[in-house]
Amino acid sequence: MGSEQGTDQRGGPELDPTRPHPARRYNYWLGGKDNFQADRDAGDAIAGVFPHIRTAARENRAFMQRAVRHLAREAGIRQFLDIGTGLPTADNVHDVAQGIAPESRIVYVDNDPLVLSHARALLTSSDEGATAYIDADVREPRKILADPAVRDTLDWSRPIALQLVAIMHFVEDHEDPYGIVSQLVSALPAGSYLVLSHATFDPLDPETIAAMNAINEGIKPRFSPRTLAEVTPFFNGLELLDPGIVSVSDWRPEPGPRPTAAEATGYGAVARIP
Ligand code: SAH
Repeated sequence: MGSEQGTDQRGGPELDPTRPHPARRYNYWLGGKDNFQADRDAGDAIAGVFPHIRTAARENRAFMQRAVRHLAREAGIRQFLDIGTGLPTADNVHDVAQGIAPESRIVYVDNDPLVLSHARALLTSSDEGATAYIDADVREPRKILADPAVRDTLDWSRPIALQLVAIMHFVEDHEDPYGIVSQLVSALPAGSYLVLSHATFDPLDPETIAAMNAINEGIKPRFSPRTLAEVTPFFNGLELLDPGIVSVSDWRPEPGPRPTAAEATGYGAVARIP
């Protein structure tokens, strides 16, 4: 960890190493180094009741990479708006997309101060393409859509892949998660795509769910896993690509053995915006 702590110059939240943050906890589960003791403790507490959490994190990340690969290769998508980016690690969206099509343009969005301080690692675009990073909150979709970096980096007359990968479970019901997604989706040109993954407790046994809920009591932002019936409305009015909304591990998997739904504990899907 460098000397990244201190006041956020734009009046955003300060980096507080004593409070666990989702981006750093996820980074810890993925085996990254950009996390503090508080994040590791929170991550270990969850791993204590749900030992597959690291598998779940890796499977979510791999789903995102397969979805980007599919969209870049098969659907000709060259623009990505990735909200809830996470800490830079291997094979970020632009690495995958520009590896296939160097002219790809990516805007990253996250609200974690530590992601902001590492954002330059997200800005290593190919010469032909472009990447931008903005510090913003998904719960303010209008602000994201109006941001100059978002307007200018992406061509809004051409299809864009909106990525909400493992972020919407940090938006509580009273914060209008479906309204947020629908506002973002309706701003996109026809032929755009939504890539969304979401944590679920559907395949877990009642004891594990009770233990996870007990941990969740002390977590901020609150974690809102959703059932399949609750994840489905995020795709209302959209054309789901095969195989629909499935365990992240089962979305167009590579050949070979893969984790069960009870290990991956996340739904993922890609849909076309008509
Ligand atoms: N999409 C990445 C990272 C998922 S971790 C991947 O799948 O690999 C979830 C990320 O969402 C974290 O980086 C966290 O900081 C971010 N996040 C959580 N709540 C957010 C909010 N309200 N607005 C913007 N980003 C948020």
